[in-house]
Amino acid sequence: MEITLKNLTKIFPSRNKKSPDDVVAVNDFDFTIPDGKLIGLLGPSGCGKSTMLYMISGLQKPTSGQIFFGSDDVTQLSPENRGVGLVFQNYALYPHMTVLQNILFPLQNLKGEDKLTKDQMLDKAKDAARLVQIDELLDRKPSELSGGQQQRVAIARALVKMPRVLLLDEPLSNLDARLRLQTREEISRIQKETKITTVFVTHDQEEAMSISDMIVVMKQGVVQQTGKPQDVYDNPTNLFVAKFLGTPPINVFRGHVAGSMLYIGSSAVMACPGVKDCEVYVGIRPEGFILDPAGPFENSLRSVEVMGRDVSVVFTSPDSMNPTARAIITSESVIDEKSPTVRFSIKPRKLFLFDFASEKRIRFEVK
Ligand code: ATP
Repeated sequence: MEITLKNLTKIFPSRNKKSPDDVVAVNDFDFTIPDGKLIGLLGPSGCGKSTMLYMISGLQKPTSGQIFFGSDDVTQLSPENRGVGLVFQNYALYPHMTVLQNILFPLQNLKGEDKLTKDQMLDKAKDAARLVQIDELLDRKPSELSGGQQQRVAIARALVKMPRVLLLDEPLSNLDARLRLQTREEISRIQKETKITTVFVTHDQEEAMSISDMIVVMKQGVVQQTGKPQDVYDNPTNLFVAKFLGTPPINVFRGHVAGSMLYIGSSAVMACPGVKDCEVYVGIRPEGFILDPAGPFENSLRSVEVMGRDVSVVFTSPDSMNPTARAIITSESVIDEKSPTVRFSIKPRKLFLFDFASEKRIRFEVK
């Protein structure tokens, strides 16, 4: 099911007389979610992700704009009539019911021609349980399950009516690191098997990038960039997106362009043909540094952290926007840890320039 969001805006009126400003939770959101894909809605706390999801589900009505499922305008439809499955962070299972009863619950409320016989309901519930691999646990109560198993029950309950759209609001937040990884792989598998158009809300960029076909990066209710995770990572449209994606995060320096040459401090780091003389922010991904004794970018070496496959070189620069900067190089690289300085050359495709005032990307031809 393709979902089209047309100029969606949600404004929460202020209840506080002292600060009368309304909250614009989502601002003119325009996007088409392709049929059968998994979309990661990503952004810092308070950027409007959940509000966006609740508008798609029908739990909240937009202040303006429209929502289409396929060619149906569902903007005014109630959640029950939209055919959506919702999974929240806190599972929200009924504690007094068994796993099976929890999964059956949405089917028992079906009315009219959708009404099912007991056997039909049981078949559907068991199919959903099998899909999320909890068919061994049907007689247990939620309190007798691990967090990961509870979340699977919640997903089975959302899937049992075979919704047109599956909406997941931070579904992994309550799980420990190992279970998060396992459950996110499960979600990806289930989504690929069912091909249900899925929107996955998270503030964890790694989580979103690892399972999404496309990501939508939001900031203060406004979409910053949409695209395939790798494309957005490789081609951020502004400093916010560049900083939001990637662990360890991108290193940001103050720099300037003079005569088509990029300078950080007095180091002439790279040619940037066609860029006019200006102040810039320079973003360099940690994997964009090459250890090079003759390299143009000299910094003070702080420490070297060996992490198995990779080596993390921590350095400082008076032009860095953070107290320390970090380069990731392969463990075969030879580095003199006693040296007070470290020199790098830079991989051109891993360096981005941003306008100092607008923080928008300044593009130039990379040789
Ligand atoms: P988080 O990751 O913390 O859940 P989020 O990106 O999902 O955040 P939302 O919950 O969508 O953000 O909230 C967006 C903005 O709208 C926030 O500033 C929030 O305070 C505000 N907001 C959300 N719901 C309401 C409401 N019912 N009344 C007033 N303001 C609200």
